[in-house]
Amino acid sequence: MSLAWFPSIRSTNLLPGIRDSGDEIDVSKRRIRRITASSQPLPVPFNLLLFFCKLTFPSLSMSDQSSSAGASSSNCTTEDADALRRNRILSTKLYFDVPPSKAPIIYSTSYDISFLGIEKLHPFDSSKWGRICGFLIENGVLEKTRIVEPLEATKDDLLVVHSKSYLDSLKSSLNVSIITEVPPVALFPNCLVQNKVLYPFRKQVGGTILAAKLAKERGSAINVGGGFHHCSADRGGGFCAYADISLCIHYAFVRLNISRVMIIDLDAHQGNGHEKDFSRDRRVYILDMYNPYIYPLDYEARKYIDQSVEVPSGTATEEYLIKLDEALEVAGNAFDPELVIYNAGTDILDGDPLGRLKISPHGVTIRDEKVFKFARDKNIPLVMLTSGGYMKSSARVIADSITNLSNKSLITMGGT
Ligand SMILES: [Zn+2]
Repeated sequence: MSLAWFPSIRSTNLLPGIRDSGDEIDVSKRRIRRITASSQPLPVPFNLLLFFCKLTFPSLSMSDQSSSAGASSSNCTTEDADALRRNRILSTKLYFDVPPSKAPIIYSTSYDISFLGIEKLHPFDSSKWGRICGFLIENGVLEKTRIVEPLEATKDDLLVVHSKSYLDSLKSSLNVSIITEVPPVALFPNCLVQNKVLYPFRKQVGGTILAAKLAKERGSAINVGGGFHHCSADRGGGFCAYADISLCIHYAFVRLNISRVMIIDLDAHQGNGHEKDFSRDRRVYILDMYNPYIYPLDYEARKYIDQSVEVPSGTATEEYLIKLDEALEVAGNAFDPELVIYNAGTDILDGDPLGRLKISPHGVTIRDEKVFKFARDKNIPLVMLTSGGYMKSSARVIADSITNLSNKSLITMGGT
């Protein structure tokens, strides 16, 4: 995930001297990658922007340092916070029953972002999600009436992971503009920003959470959106305002009787949000395959990746797929999950200005097929999220890959 309104941040390596010099150790069958870089300075232009923001809006807080996931009151004990979280999860409306006549494909027209036309000024395809479904219908693998429409994640739903102060910080349009990396958003009243930007995201979060329930029932499910892997409990960034992956996992723990989850994050960017949220949680195993020389350069979060596979700029299809084969074999031997969350970003595509990898469209199809086979062979439910990758060609590539998954019976579109 991540966007390009600040091309200078994304298109050049502003921190060329910073490299990890980590070593790998085995701890109780879990491979822990240790990164010894001590700190991660923000790119200079971003620091300047933050400085300007703080000068102009001194009350603005991008993160809540005092919060912990799910605890909305600093007076809460850990037990209170756990009980509150559990109650919120048990009382959610997001986990509704999906009739068998529906396909395990989750999407709402609300996912697509239109913002008074300014989205057209940006190369980012803000209607990617709808176009994916359009191509699936065109390909003959999906009927419109079989698409599952999720509910919007409410404030109570979001508080399962997020702090109240973080959610409150989204009432600042400037803050949302920084998180989404779309500066013009700062100029609009927050009610408009809530309606046009954050509401679509909250619908996508509802889709990710529901996808785990559907995957458990059907074997696999795809949320045609979500995958906001740069957002953690108390900090957004890189176009990610809500931590849908962390939320999805916490709901699955409580509602699906699941105690071990594997995140397979194959977006081109390192997924620092879920890495921070599950930093000390041994129920979650993270395999992250990413370009180490691009955003977010989050060296602290890298410490929490169980299996780190670096694919430097310029990596081509064949080499990428060999590395993926090796990685999946290692992951399968290291951890025995009851649910796989697959973050299937398409910013690995050749030509993507942010990912800087050189994977062909067919390579993306093969990649997705390998991950689905990995889960199916072990009989593990799989949730796929579309995550980053916003070239105009991305929607077609994703739809063709899902079509291939359907043709090979790796996902059952169902319907009676
Ligand atoms: Zn990405």
